[in-house]
Amino acid sequence: MFYNIAVVGFGLAGRLAALELSKLHHVTVFEADDEHTQNSAGKVAAAMLAPLAESVLCEADLALMGLDSMKRWPGIIAELESDVFFQQQGTLVIAHQQDKGDLQSFAQRIKPLADHTAEHINAQQITKLEPELAGRFNQGLFLPCEGQIDNQAFYKASFAQLNKRKVKFVFNQRVTISDNKINNRPFDYIIDCRGLGAKNTQVDKPLRGVRGEVARLYAPEVSLIRPVRLMHPRYPIYIAPKPNNEYVIGATEIESQDSGAATVRSTLELLSAAYTVHSGFAEARLLNIQTGLRPAFSDNRPEVSKVGNVISINGLYRHGYMLAPALVAQAVSRIE
Ligand SMILES: Cc1cc2nc3c(=O)[nH]c(=O)nc-3n(C[C@H](O)[C@H](O)[C@H](O)COP(=O)(O)OP(=O)(O)OC[C@H]3O[C@@H](n4cnc5c(N)ncnc54)[C@H](O)[C@@H]3O)c2cc1C
Repeated sequence: MFYNIAVVGFGLAGRLAALELSKLHHVTVFEADDEHTQNSAGKVAAAMLAPLAESVLCEADLALMGLDSMKRWPGIIAELESDVFFQQQGTLVIAHQQDKGDLQSFAQRIKPLADHTAEHINAQQITKLEPELAGRFNQGLFLPCEGQIDNQAFYKASFAQLNKRKVKFVFNQRVTISDNKINNRPFDYIIDCRGLGAKNTQVDKPLRGVRGEVARLYAPEVSLIRPVRLMHPRYPIYIAPKPNNEYVIGATEIESQDSGAATVRSTLELLSAAYTVHSGFAEARLLNIQTGLRPAFSDNRPEVSKVGNVISINGLYRHGYMLAPALVAQAVSRIE
């Protein structure tokens, strides 16, 4: 049975929903922004897939959903015609000697997930994983099940694929959803993926934005293989290697709805902390420093809900890439 389905919001959740639904149905995508979707949190994100590390901050069921999503990503990417970098080579977590208490505390708060646990490693094992960090760190943790994807490439490739499938796009239209219609136009189903754009319409469960800043660097003098997290009492950061010697350094987390440009303080913190991990960042080129607002409910848990013919996916907070494939599958399963 073919349905006429509208996807509202062409951010991370909207793309994944459109990719899945356009295999069977007629899909129209409405997006408030232009085709570059610069206001989508997913465009700014580091796109780390980190269920073990994030289990420190979220409930175990969400972290397990992260493992489920991890298995889905390769299949999603395989259906795209252009390459999208995906890796699952684990995450290395390190701390400078004076901050080893932060590393220990982090290790204690990681929740065991099925067979997946964090491995305590020494200086030699760190060198084996990341040769360029030799002699810099005495202790660390290795989280073997974790991964990451290149979100910029995923945004490009998903748009190209949906165009190929003749999905209709309506850009530059901030639409309203009411009486199961979009701007008075009826659809069989509406998939609401507006992220923070649904803020004033979620009456029962208020949404808020949680500000984050990330820096993207071109660093030809750095060769890290996998994401590296630095534990630090004030400036914990991660460094996510992307293709072509690019690195995403992130991310601040500030309880603020301000989406304005990054502050000097955040920029200094991110870049100084990265330099303490690898001195090769000194000569790196700062490609950009971007800000995004993570859409979050008050309990920081995502939600898939259905009212009439409107299915909403929202509240992905800092776990959009980690959780969206499983959440979109849940949403699609509610189409009868
Ligand atoms: C700095 C930063 C780093 C992050 N790092 C990670 C990470 O490493 N790993 C991870 O798993 N997650 C990460 N995230 C979180 C992840 O990016 C978000 O959870 C995810 O992008 C939310 O997806 P979404 O589709 O709900 O919202 P968005 O991606 O924000 O997309 C919503 C879209 O809806 C559009 N829209 C809004 N209102 C309307 C309307 N009325 N009509 C039409 N269109 C509308 C918007 O323009 C936007 O394009 C990070 C986020 C930030 C900000």
